[in-house]
Formats: sequence, structure tokens, C-alpha cells
Amino acid sequence: MKGFAMLGIGKVGWIEKEAPACGPLDALVKPLAVSPCTSDIHTVWEGAIGDRHDMILGHEAVGEVVEVGALVKDFKPGDKVIVPAITPDWGSLEAQAGYSMHSGGMLAGWKFSNFKDGVFGELFHVNEADANLAHLPEGVDMAAAVMLSDMVPTGFHGVELADVQFGDDVCVIGIGPVGLMAVAGAALRGAANLYAVGSRPNCVALAKEYGATEVLNYRDGDIVEQILERTHGKGVDRVVIAGGNAEDTFVQAIRMLKPGGRIGSVNYLGSGDYVRIPRVEWGCGMGHKVIASGLMPGGRLRMEKLAALLATGRVDPGKMLTHRFQGFEHMEEALLLMKDKPKDLIKPVVLI
Ligand code: NAD
Ligand code: ZN
Repeated sequence: MKGFAMLGIGKVGWIEKEAPACGPLDALVKPLAVSPCTSDIHTVWEGAIGDRHDMILGHEAVGEVVEVGALVKDFKPGDKVIVPAITPDWGSLEAQAGYSMHSGGMLAGWKFSNFKDGVFGELFHVNEADANLAHLPEGVDMAAAVMLSDMVPTGFHGVELADVQFGDDVCVIGIGPVGLMAVAGAALRGAANLYAVGSRPNCVALAKEYGATEVLNYRDGDIVEQILERTHGKGVDRVVIAGGNAEDTFVQAIRMLKPGGRIGSVNYLGSGDYVRIPRVEWGCGMGHKVIASGLMPGGRLRMEKLAALLATGRVDPGKMLTHRFQGFEHMEEALLLMKDKPKDLIKPVVLI
């Protein structure tokens, strides 16, 4: 079969591979709609998880089941399914401890385009199909549903990590697709003043649609000063980090956070060795300013619950799809858009 792959650090291209085998609990799926992710860019061009050779990329897909193993109960060939980016081993001790995304080792629930071939192939393998796939609900647009693989669950996870409560003042740093979904998630969770930091006009407009009460542009001055001005010098209760680098954003987040506040970071730190935390604004280590960070949870239940938010119209991630391609042959073009980030891009989707 054909697949669009990372050939080595900084190199991508089409390769031929043997089709994967289907174990008794597993499924083979062919992609119907896929989307490249900023994480694919960290992986290929920053070598963030180390070198990989001839590894098929991609972890965001809606697909059709082609084959299931003998022990799979709830899925059959022909079913249309949402495929989460994170597909844990549910029997692992880490999953039993509540951290399924780290099943088998740190980040090891993230299998596609990390430990095995991803979803940009003619076929891909899904482990533990009953626990990791979700049926695509009737009436949910397939392209919008691709955002359930990663963008919705990750943005929402930032909100969970920050533990946003009714009436909280919240700041979301970075409003690419993940940050936009963090804005939507914080609004659903009952944020009061919901500040988003960004500058691209289409992201700014969409952040407002998703519930931001104000969008702050870092070009208008230090965003910490802007937040402190608006909060009478007190800062916000919660910060979600969904963009930026390890050098700047943690400093900004700590500085704009109230004592007792929480930072939820879902950023993939692709380079550098250390994260910077400002000592004094962190209360010399005693400020009760919590930094929670993590990989999104995957699995079927999570997918079904988030799909219900689409089916009921509570959130429409389809609005983020600025570029639609028809045909697998556009895979490289779509991926390079994520790398080059032209001004009008939020998220591309490739329909196959
Ligand atoms: P993106 O690049 O489209 O968006 C990030 C935004 O942050 C951009 O608009 C950028 O201009 C902005 N930004 C950069 N520096 C900033 C700063 N100092 N202040 C404010 N804004 C700043 O990326 P995305 O697709 O939305 O993904 C966001 C991050 O989430 C990426 O690092 C991605 O790899 C990561 N990610 C993590 C998970 C997870 O499970 N934790 C899953 C998917 C993606
Ligand atoms: Zn991703």
C-alpha cells in the first residue's frame, strides 16, 4: 500500500509498505478524511521525538472499517468511525491508574506517527478497536468530525488541566486550532472573562465566535501588562497554553496568574532543553501556581462524548477548516500548509 511518510528528519515523501496485519482485538481502517497537525511538523522538521525512517505520518482521521479481528464486538467492515489520535492499551497499569495516554510508557498511548505508522496510508491499524474507535454519529459532517481526533480533545484537555470553573477569568495563549478549541471549551465550562491571545484576523474572529470576550494582540504590548490592566492588577484564575515556545509562554502564564491559579498546557515543546519559570512571580516557589500539562486522552468514550457535542450543535469545529482538498495526492500540500502557516490558514482537511 501507499503512504505519505517521514523519511527522516526534515524529509517527507510517498512510500510503498506492506499493509498492516489485524490482531484479534484490532481493526484495519481506510481513511475517508484526514488532517495534518502541527505535531507532525514538530516531529518531522524539529525531530522532536527523535529520528524516524519511513514512518507513515498522521493521527487525525475519520475512516471506514475494512477488517476487524475475531474478538471485536461493536464494529464491522463498512462502519464509519472517528479515530482518536491517542489509542491506549486499556489493560495497562498506567491506564488503570487513570493515565491511559501513557499506557506502556510516557506518551506511549500516542501510537500513530510515533511508535507505528499513522493514518496517511491507504490502510491503517487500530489497536483495541472496541475501546478506541467511535461510530460517526448520523448527520455529523465528516470533515468537522476529523477535528474530534485531536483538536477538540486537546483544546478541551487544556481546559480540564487548568480546571476552569464557573465564573473564572481565563486566558488562552495561542489561538491556532488547539487554542480555539480551548476557547470553546472554556466557554462551555463557564468562564466569565475569557481572554484569548492572538493576532491573525480569521483566528481572532473565530475566537470571538467560540466565546472569547476579548482578544489581546501581543503586538499591542506585553500581554501580561494587558491582562493585569484588565483585572485591576490581580491577574486571571486560569491560563491555557496552546501555542508559543518553552522560553516565553510559561513566563507569561505564571506572571498573569493569580496565586492559587492553574495553568493547563497542551503545547508540544518541540525544541530547547528547559522550560523557564520566573522565580519571583512564582511566589519564590510558594505561590500555589500550579502547572498541569499533558497529552490529550484518547479512547472511545471520550470520542463519543465529544462527538455528542458536535451532534447537538454545542460546538462546531468545522468552522476552523479553512482549506479543503479532495484526493490523497494533496497530502503533501496540506502538510506543508501546516508547516508554512499562511495567514489565512487555520486547519486543512483532505477528503479521500
Ligand atoms: P498553531 O501553530 O496553529 O497555533 C499556535 C498559535 O500560537 C499560532 O497562531 C502562533 O502564532 C501562536 N503563538 C506563538 N507564540 C505565541 C506567544 N508567545 N503568544 C501567543 N501566541 C503565540 O498550533 P496548533 O495546531 O493550534 O497546536 C498548538 C500546539 O498544541 C502545538 O504545539 C501542537 O503540536 C500541540 N498539540 C498538543 C497535543 C497534546 O495532546 N498535548 C495534541 C495536538 C497538538
Ligand atoms: Zn495532532
